Order: sequence, then C-alpha cells, then structure tokens
Amino acid sequence: MHFEERTIKVVIDESKCAGCTTHACVAGCKLFDRGILVLKDGKPALGGDAEFAQRIGTECLACEYECWFRGNKAITIEAPIPGLEEYKRKHGVL
Ligand code: SF4
Repeated sequence: MHFEERTIKVVIDESKCAGCTTHACVAGCKLFDRGILVLKDGKPALGGDAEFAQRIGTECLACEYECWFRGNKAITIEAPIPGLEEYKRKHGVL
C-alpha cells in the first residue's frame, strides 16, 4: 500500500508485516507524527482517506525510521527534491 502526504510518498510492502511483532511504524507515528497510521488486521493502515493523509501528515519520516530499526524494513519513503538531478548532472555526481 502507499499514500502521499504533501511532498512525500510512503510505500509499505505489507508482505513483510506478517511476521512483525513490534508494529513500530504505528507506535512511531503516534509518538512523532499525528497518528495517521493505525493497526488494522496486524498491518499498518491509514486512519482516514487519501485527503486525510495530505492534510494531517507532518512528513516526519518516523514510520520509515522505526520500521527499519524495529520492524521488518517494509517502509520506503520517496522524498523528491526538485532540481537535485539537474544539480548532480551539473556537478558530475551522477
Ligand atoms: S514496523 Fe514495518 S514491518 Fe512492522 S508492521 Fe510496521 S511497516 Fe510492517
């Protein structure tokens, strides 16, 4: 599943959640964000619709951090930076 906040996209590989015992993403979201992730049938789920995530999410990145350190590395956050690719090309970083 995936959802978007204002500038980021959160992608969750739910196949990795089946054996997760911590559900650290949900706890981290409640602690550091506004609790937009809730636990539903043993997996993280949005506590509202797509517009809810756009409006309420703070883009704190806590779910990804907590999942990678205390969960099963199921979350990837895409955070595009406008102009970064052009900058890297210009400076020979690519
Ligand atoms: S911490 Fe990671 S593996 Fe565990 S339920 Fe959350 S997203 Fe799934």
